[in-house]
Amino acid sequence: MSRKLNFSAGPAALPEEVLKQAQEEMLDWHGHGLSIMEMSHRSKEYVSVAEQAEQDLRDLMHVPDNYKVLFLQGGATSQFSMIPMNLLRGKKTADYINTGVWSIKAIKEAQRYCDVNIVATTEHNNFTSAPTQNQLKLDASAAYVHYTPNETIGGVEFDYIPDTGSVPLVADMSSSILSRAIDVSRFGLIYAGAQKNIGPAGLTVVIVRDDLIGQTLAGTPTMFDYAVHAASDSMNNTPPTFGWYLAGLIFQWLKRQGGVEGMEVINRRKAEKLYQAIDQSSFYANPVAIANRSWMNVPFTLADANLDNLFIEESEQAGLLNLKGHRSVGGMRASIYNAVPEAAVDALIEFMQYFESKHG
Ligand code: PMP
Repeated sequence: MSRKLNFSAGPAALPEEVLKQAQEEMLDWHGHGLSIMEMSHRSKEYVSVAEQAEQDLRDLMHVPDNYKVLFLQGGATSQFSMIPMNLLRGKKTADYINTGVWSIKAIKEAQRYCDVNIVATTEHNNFTSAPTQNQLKLDASAAYVHYTPNETIGGVEFDYIPDTGSVPLVADMSSSILSRAIDVSRFGLIYAGAQKNIGPAGLTVVIVRDDLIGQTLAGTPTMFDYAVHAASDSMNNTPPTFGWYLAGLIFQWLKRQGGVEGMEVINRRKAEKLYQAIDQSSFYANPVAIANRSWMNVPFTLADANLDNLFIEESEQAGLLNLKGHRSVGGMRASIYNAVPEAAVDALIEFMQYFESKHG
């Protein structure tokens, strides 16, 4: 067996150690004679797995006690609707920061429920930066402020947490959760699809301050009500049991890597060396403002776009997978989430230098 180096944007690489553990536990989970997938979500064995995963995530992110941690389905995309349904709380407007593709999707969905006030946009520079705090035209009467700390496609990451005063801050952390230490108390709600830094697709994590829930828009479906999920410990119906279990294994793996603080050091180093390799070459380029370059998703172009297909072909032959950029932007993108080892980034840089020397 030879596993390749996977730079997929999501579903993304998982730690090999965790996959092996899941494999070992697959047929007979802890001597119970069945797999975790075949167990009732209400069994005491499964409930203990679920509770441990939640506790480990709380530990990793230092989640304060007045926050609920929910393990849901529907992807981050369902949160684009659940957020206005739950957080408008009788208000008519919400503030949104627009930094690219994922912000726009969130904005479009919110517009079905309220007046969306775009408090800053970087459309003028083709979404290659994040607005500064001073550029945010916040409305103190907005129900909440939504932003995308890391735009997965554009590779644009905020280098600060917006200060929104007493208005709850909502963050789509799909592609940046657990990548660096953050102060959860600065947020009203954090959400993330699991398939990048948490685990397999099919699980969505929501961390929400408990005073913000329980005041849903009239007509909100039961499954879209955070209060329902909070009251049932995310077991109002059958939760995504396997994804939740695997996320738990990842959380334990993260703890073994020194937690989020440990990952942050490694992630910074991985990103810095890749951007440095791009900047030092006149063959590769990244358009994002230096301060806003993503640690997780590194898009880059080749000096000659006619070489794109050859780059993909040769990189695959070298065992480097999924480097093709998103179809909307072209070029290349290396996603270097927590589970992508530093050695994979080193191998990518080496391949890029080899490719440039051959074709540049
Ligand atoms: N937000 C961001 C920042 C994302 O990167 C993605 C997925 N690429 C989504 C939302 C959508 O996530 P899902 O597919 O889980 O709905």
